[in-house]
This record gives sequence, C-alpha cells and structure tokens, in this order.
Amino acid sequence: MFVKLIQNYIDGRFVSGVGEFADLNPADGTTIAQVAEAGQSQVHEAVQAARRALSGEWGRLGIRERAARLHRIADGIEKRFDCFVQAEVADTGKPISLASKLDVPRAAANFRVFADLIQTAGLESFQTETGDGRSALNYAMRKPLGVVGVITPWNLPLLLLTWKVAPALACGNTVVVKPSEETPATATLLAETMQEAGIPRGVYGVVHGFGPGSAGEFLTRHPDVKAITFTGESKTGAAIMKAVAPTVKPVSFELGGKNAAVVFADCNFDETVKGLAEAVFLNTGQVCLCAERVYVERRIFATFVDALKQKAESLNPGWPTDEKSNLGPLISARHRQKVLSYYRLAQKEGATLITGGDVQKFGDHRDHGFYVQPTVYTGLAETARCVQEEIFGPVCHIAPFDSEQEAVAMANDTRYGLAASIWTSDLQRGHRIAQQMNVGITWVNCWFLRDLRTPFGGVGLSGVGREGGMHSLNFYSELNNICIRL
Ligand code: NAD
Repeated sequence: MFVKLIQNYIDGRFVSGVGEFADLNPADGTTIAQVAEAGQSQVHEAVQAARRALSGEWGRLGIRERAARLHRIADGIEKRFDCFVQAEVADTGKPISLASKLDVPRAAANFRVFADLIQTAGLESFQTETGDGRSALNYAMRKPLGVVGVITPWNLPLLLLTWKVAPALACGNTVVVKPSEETPATATLLAETMQEAGIPRGVYGVVHGFGPGSAGEFLTRHPDVKAITFTGESKTGAAIMKAVAPTVKPVSFELGGKNAAVVFADCNFDETVKGLAEAVFLNTGQVCLCAERVYVERRIFATFVDALKQKAESLNPGWPTDEKSNLGPLISARHRQKVLSYYRLAQKEGATLITGGDVQKFGDHRDHGFYVQPTVYTGLAETARCVQEEIFGPVCHIAPFDSEQEAVAMANDTRYGLAASIWTSDLQRGHRIAQQMNVGITWVNCWFLRDLRTPFGGVGLSGVGREGGMHSLNFYSELNNICIRL
C-alpha cells in the first residue's frame, strides 16, 4: 500500500529527513502517512535559511506589503479549507464539525487579525525635560527579533501553530516550526499555502521530529534562534527553559491547566449545564482551557451532577468524519494509557463514579483507536492527585461548596493558573469572584469565547508571558528606544 510522506520544508523546498516515523489516525490506529524526521544538520539548514531570509526580500518589505501577504496566506487557507479540515481530522481524530467550525477558520483569522493589527500598532514616545531648559525626545521603534523557533502541541495543531506564526511574521521575523510528532500534516500543508501566497523561501520552515535529542531540542539549543514560543506541557516548558538558558533566549510559554468552574445556585441552569458540558468534553477534553474541576453550590449539587451525567451520556463518539459525531478519540495509545491510569487512580483515591470510567467499545474498527468514555466523578478530597494534576481527557470532578469564600479558595488551590469560569446571574458576584481568580483568563457565563486582541496566557505552572493582540506583537519584536537631545 502506498503511504504518503509528510516532508520537512527547508529553504522553500520540500525535503525528506534522516529517518521516518508513522503518523497514526487516532480513530482506528491505522497509519495515515510516514513523516520525514529532520536531523540536526537539517534543523541547522532551516535556521540558516531563515536567517538569510531576514536580509532578503522579506526583510525589505514595508508593513503594508507584509500585511497583504498575511492576508494572502489567510485566503490560501480558506481556498484549501477542505484539505486542511481533512488533514486535521485524520491527524487528531477530532470531529469534522469541530475542525470546520473552530480549527481551520481560526487559522485564517489568526493571519487576518495580526495583519490588521501590525498596521495600526503605535509605539510610545515621551518628551523628557532635561533640567537645563532643554529636552529630549524618546521614541520606540519595533524591530524583528530574528529567527523564531515555534514548538507546538497536538490538540489544536493548526490553530496554535498559526496563533504564533502569524504575529511572528507580522513583526517581520522568520520562523522555523516544529509541530507535534502526533499531528504533522497541517504544518506541511501550510508550507504549500505559504509558497502560493508569495512568502519568500526561508521565511517559514518546518522541521518534523520529536522533543529531546530530536528536532525540538535542536531548535531550542540553536544559537541563531533568537526566541522560542512554545505551547505544551508544563514539564516540557521547564526542559525548554533549561535548554535556552545558555543562549538567553526570550520564551513565551502557554502550558498546562487544571481549570476550575464555579457554579452558583442562581445561575441559568440549562445554559450552565450546556456551557460546562462543552468546557469539560470539547475536543475530548484535550483543550488546555477545559474545566477538570467543577465546584457547585450545594443547593443545586445533586441536580447539577445528574444533568452533567446526562449530557456526558448523550455525547456521540462517532467516526470523526461523521458530521453528527461530537466526541473523538484521544490522540494516541500512550495518552489513552495516561488518561485511563487517572480513571483507575480516581477509584483508588475514593471517588464516586457518576458515569464513564473506561474505554469506549464499538464492535468495529474504532476499537483499534484510542477512545475513552466521557467521565464524571465526585467525592474526592481536594488534595487527591486527580484533583491536582492535569489529566487532559474528557473528565471532571464535581465538588460542592457552601460559600463564595470557600469556592474561591478551592478554585485557587492549584499550582496551575490558566483559566476559570464563573456561572451566576448576579453580575456583581461575577465580577467579585472573577477578580479573585489566580489565572490568566476568567469567563463569566461563558467559556472559550475569544477575542484575539485580548491577553492570553497563564500563571504558575500554566505559563510565562501573554500572547494575543499587542501582547503578541510586543513578544515578537525587539523595541529599540531612541533618545534625541533637542
Ligand atoms: P508536549 O509538551 O508533550 O509537546 C509539545 C511539543 O513540544 C511537541 O512538538 C513536542 O515534540 C515538543 N517537545 C517535547 N519535549 C521537548 C523538548 N525537550 N525540547 C523541545 N521540544 C520538545 O505537549 P503535548 O502533549 O503535545 O500537548 C498537551 C499539553 O499542551 C497539555 O499539557 C496542554 O494543557 C498544553 N496546552 C497548553 C495550551 C495553552 O495555551 N496554555 C494550549 C494547548 C495545549
């Protein structure tokens, strides 16, 4: 059987690697493609090509023309919409409805937002009195950082890759990306779109491979890579921080989460249950923003638990290409092992199983895939590992609370700090609780509602820095303050 090869993209050419690894379909475990693994010298070539591109045509483009090219990339993504959707669905196993409504449209939107923003992004200037009757004019100017290394995970592969590539290019940088080994397809497909959009060679490079001892590590350690932007697990962030220390590279880290949802008895019950079913189960719980800890005011606790159980049991874990499917498999056999180990641990830690807790059985080829049942627990102590550690599956633990103070204390009792959601019809309470959350983003009566101009990132184990809007432009540029004696 012919299996296609997903190639690296170096200096404007699609090239094979020093080895190959298999790209699996998580829905049935079949091999979709072989992937060309880039060796250390190829990562070096990609970085050198990206360096050369900085002083070529790309480096000479004015902001307006650069923005026009970013819009052309977005046009290209929209033109090949179905190809991107199919590649993303095959790689991740996510339902086609999700890839078509979220992942691929957001990829195009990422380029459009930053293309527009860079054209209107002002910079500060100050007139400074010098004490001798004269003054000085200070103004800042924006310069690219240089070659940016982009390392991304598998859960929202194209969305998260473009979330970083778009602002990096908008600021005039060049990038070398290392997509997740689990989901390599759309990064290479994007390279074809870049070519068609007239992005000069070297501006966008793709090197496939793994983390330690492979393309990921080669990129982070490369002295000509001037910054690393990374989304992934907190412990990988820690390893990257160590690797970049000798070359003192700036890092932007979007890491793991163990997000809380706080539900008050005065909430709009049906909307809250619907919102939380999304917050817990969307993308099979494999979104860094998913709620794995749900705190519910005791008065409605039992009714809420029952309502979320019914939602979980009504999900449709169909084939990803089936429009009616709304629950996919987990990404890999290894990740399923991890999630199942937490399902077993929850029982050992004394949880009450409300629903799920096992693998999903179908009696067809999906049994060779990596499905698990959507799962809800109650009854764990706040100190339990299942309440403290990120599981990254379709699972949550629900605990009751009696007062606002108690709810805030439980929600904040974590080493992570990415997101929280508050569900109440008391607006003042919504603000009051939101302001006490130790996280980077708090939603009130909604979840995952994003305006791409707003700051995005986490505290504690959830990350370093903020991306989004001007925060991205500031990370991806070097500001040079110029002081002129008048
Ligand atoms: P991961 O950390 O295992 O891998 C992410 C990427 O890093 C992959 O491309 C991998 O090959 C690479 N990598 C691994 N070790 C490396 C090393 N030592 N040096 C350089 N590169 C290395 O994460 P994952 O399992 O792909 O993704 C899931 C994690 O990502 C979860 O923890 C999730 O919460 C997090 N995440 C966070 C956000 C956010 O915005 N905060 C968004 C999505 C996912």
